[in-house]
Amino acid sequence: MPNPKKHYLVVECSNCKRFLLAASDKKTRTCPYCGKRVKLEDARIAATSESSEEARLALQELKLRERSDRTSKLL
Ligand SMILES: [Zn+2]
Repeated sequence: MPNPKKHYLVVECSNCKRFLLAASDKKTRTCPYCGKRVKLEDARIAATSESSEEARLALQELKLRERSDRTSKLL
């Protein structure tokens, strides 16, 4: 196996475009926001990490950035 080590991905849901956390040993992940089954190999990967903690932080940062983008568009 070239990469047996499990890692964590932050992927963008292809349906609602929100970010979600997924483990690399899974093939699909159900989006907690819209319920769509996201295929990890087809999804846009926003970040990867070897620790779940780091991946969670990356996800939080992306969410914050997403929110501030929306806010700046409103202003
Ligand atoms: Zn979704």
